[in-house]
Amino acid sequence: MKSIPPVHKITGLLTSNIYVIEDKDEIVLFDAGIPQDYRLIVDAIKSLGRSPVEISHILLTHFHPDHSGSAAALRRLSHAKVYAHEDDAKIIEGSESASMVYARGIIGRAVSLVPRVVSAFGRFPRVEVDVKVRDEEHLDILGGIRVIQAPGHTPGSVAYYWEERGILFSGDAIINSYRFFTLPTPGFSTSMEEARDSACKIVDIVEKGGIWLFCPGHGPMVDERTLERLQAFRGRILRKQKI
Ligand SMILES: [Zn+2]
Ligand SMILES: [Zn+2]
Repeated sequence: MKSIPPVHKITGLLTSNIYVIEDKDEIVLFDAGIPQDYRLIVDAIKSLGRSPVEISHILLTHFHPDHSGSAAALRRLSHAKVYAHEDDAKIIEGSESASMVYARGIIGRAVSLVPRVVSAFGRFPRVEVDVKVRDEEHLDILGGIRVIQAPGHTPGSVAYYWEERGILFSGDAIINSYRFFTLPTPGFSTSMEEARDSACKIVDIVEKGGIWLFCPGHGPMVDERTLERLQAFRGRILRKQKI
């Protein structure tokens, strides 16, 4: 676990990040790893001297099983409220099939030709989404979390902006897997055009509101020259679009 207070980051078994925020009498999670990350999450919370039953809110950035996989078990344990955008909530709750969405990405289209692979990708514990969030909604959690809809990776991808503290949880809308900011992997994204627009929109918003800690869906957190690095990333996206 890597800690940059007030954020603790757990790296899941498939490299997706799970963020744990300790508040006085509750614990808030941003994303929930794969189902097998459950133990990692429980042990990490215990190592902070806290109990996983204190989890009160689980904010999911998108439906992918490496981000929503443990939400069902954690909700059962703690009765935490689960949050996701309504467009991804349908898949998280199981009323819409994930393969329909995967089929729009390049790798997704390839795997959709192999039904067995599709069913493995789509198989993860369903969980009820208690709160369906919308773009620009302000959630009364941790003093105020702003929802930034960021479609492209999945239709209902969102980033969560803890504006008061200058901390952003981007999900896979912007990742840091190679120690520099990148867009999500095209093969697993529904529209790279939308993903580019969403990444630029996120940078525009944090540029105005302030940021010091960037918490990506994959890769290390960034707490140095954060805005400058995001602006450089946006520049790379916009310059490419011109060509
Ligand atoms: Zn993803
Ligand atoms: Zn991911």
